[in-house]
Amino acid sequence: MEKKQELYSGKAKSVFATDNDDFVVLSFRDDTSAFDGEKVEQLSRKGEINNKFNAFIMQYLADNGVPTHFESLINDTESVVKNMAMIPVECVVRNVATGSLVRRLGVEDGMELNPPVFEFFLKNDALHDPMVNEFHIETFGWAKAGDVSKMKDLTFKVNTLLKQLFADAGMVLVDYKLEFGLFNGEVYLGDEFSPDGCRLWDAQTRKKLDKDRFRQGLGGVIEAYEEVARRIGVPL
Ligand code: 5GP
Repeated sequence: MEKKQELYSGKAKSVFATDNDDFVVLSFRDDTSAFDGEKVEQLSRKGEINNKFNAFIMQYLADNGVPTHFESLINDTESVVKNMAMIPVECVVRNVATGSLVRRLGVEDGMELNPPVFEFFLKNDALHDPMVNEFHIETFGWAKAGDVSKMKDLTFKVNTLLKQLFADAGMVLVDYKLEFGLFNGEVYLGDEFSPDGCRLWDAQTRKKLDKDRFRQGLGGVIEAYEEVARRIGVPL
């Protein structure tokens, strides 16, 4: 498959056309951003780690019945994925209270959430990704009601699968964000799953092993991503 012109450049990934309209190339860059793009740094090897991490997780999810856009790794920093129409909504599941949930509701940081909490956010940096609900999504036409329900079901299915995967490797999947798209009218998991878009804590020490190390200036960001990858068996 031949890589063609750049179609879109996001905060951490770029998308390129290919000679087949059904597929695009996702290119993972070293750029690391936080606070809606206000803090940006280059972290060496991050593109490669996230590309390989994402390939491993997407393959694991696909093997366990979650439809994903992932097709194949093509080199250290790039993968081929289905060319989807992305739904501009972020789906977040939280197993432990932290981050924006604590800021918004004043609940105790680190509190276990049973049942887990589900939230939708509109993907819009200028508006700082405001929280929305099913009514906003349907009324403003961001997705059809049936597809909203599929996104929710798939996000919970991912929770069951990944909570266990990380628990088996001594980590707590605290929360994560997923994005979905449509391909031939069907809902597929898109974007990426990597430590950039989830929170992972060591189960014993509660050490943060995700992008909060970057957001909070804790250092050792790439070392933490590599540790997570090594623990779950991602070939780096
Ligand atoms: P919070 O709402 O607490 O900031 O984030 C909840 C979870 O979703 C965290 O795991 C966080 O990394 C992820 N998340 C939420 N919004 C974004 C986003 O715009 N980009 C990325 N990479 N992750 C996000």
